[in-house]
Amino acid sequence: MRKKILVTGGAGFIGSHLCERLLNEGNEVICLDNYFTGSKKNIVHLMDNPYFEPIRHDVSQPFYIEVDEIYNLACPASPVHYQHDAIQTIKTSVMGAINMLGLAKRLNIKALQASTSEVYGDPFIHPQPESYWGNVNPIGIRSCYDEGKRCAEALFMDYHRQNKVKIKIIRIFNTYGPNMNPGDGRVVSNFIVQALKNEDITIFGDGKQTRSFQYVDDLIEGMTKMMATDDSFIGPVNIGNPNEFTMLELAAQIIDLTGSKSKIVYRPLPSDDPKQRQPDIHLAKEKLNWEPQIKLRGGLVKTIAYFEKII
Ligand code: NAD
Ligand code: UDP
Repeated sequence: MRKKILVTGGAGFIGSHLCERLLNEGNEVICLDNYFTGSKKNIVHLMDNPYFEPIRHDVSQPFYIEVDEIYNLACPASPVHYQHDAIQTIKTSVMGAINMLGLAKRLNIKALQASTSEVYGDPFIHPQPESYWGNVNPIGIRSCYDEGKRCAEALFMDYHRQNKVKIKIIRIFNTYGPNMNPGDGRVVSNFIVQALKNEDITIFGDGKQTRSFQYVDDLIEGMTKMMATDDSFIGPVNIGNPNEFTMLELAAQIIDLTGSKSKIVYRPLPSDDPKQRQPDIHLAKEKLNWEPQIKLRGGLVKTIAYFEKII
């Protein structure tokens, strides 16, 4: 049956892949975005589809529509962008969650929240299971994002407990792939763009901090599987690739794959930058029968091909 699905942040990196997937499955998609970090370029290939409808709107403002499901992705995700207007970032997460939950409550439909591994902050427990409460600085430069997302999770849980709203929470770990904005500021896009232009590759700190990188197709599979679970499973559930790399290892792979002449340079580590990050995905394996399929090298090859085309 064709569903009418609202995707907030649908013109962004992840949102554009999600819109495409939902349309390919035969659904009608309403893509709400204010184009702060997203771009019409990411969705232009969907415009001819009569079942695709983009709407320019700020999710922190009330929004009325009739739909069957909501994926709430609207929020800048790169530190450079979410710190650019920190107050707007908090409003987007918190007011956006309230508006989408209000909609889900009125329509008695499911709402899925794109939460983040940032709720674990700079973690003391490694890898991070969903039961870990995290180590987050509430007053630092990353708090607008981390605490905004934590507050959104709290709101989702409270609307569920108090108003019986059907919710799903996924905690997404570092994701990369085509449609990332070349000026986005995140590490994978930065290193690839720098390597392709033979410019210096900027490692923040000593480069020994780790992240676990997930290719976007794996995330979309996990996200849609989560939405399809029955109403009793609400999460939160980690969606990420447990393969962990240092930033030095990432830079070396990208230099190798691009054949770049770039040199590595070191820049100061931004404050509160987490030292390590790796998802524990036992819950996703058990409840969603999901695990990532794409290894870093294979995902980087596809991502490099995308950036070669656009820069
Ligand atoms: P992105 O910046 O490419 O996409 C975010 C989209 O939301 C953009 O299209 C932007 O224009 C839109 N947006 C921002 N503020 C808005 C507002 N107030 N109203 C309407 N639209 C607004 O980032 P992304 O990587 O695609 O991230 C999508 C979601 O996934 C975000 O909620 C992010 O927190 C979450 N997430 C991403 C990652 C990752 O590694 N990419 C990791 C964890 C969580
Ligand atoms: N980073 C880096 N060089 C860059 C951009 C980022 O070394 O040009 C580092 C950053 O300090 C962090 C890691 O790469 O330790 C991942 O950064 P990103 O902004 O992609 O994601 P997040 O820190 O939110 O996980």
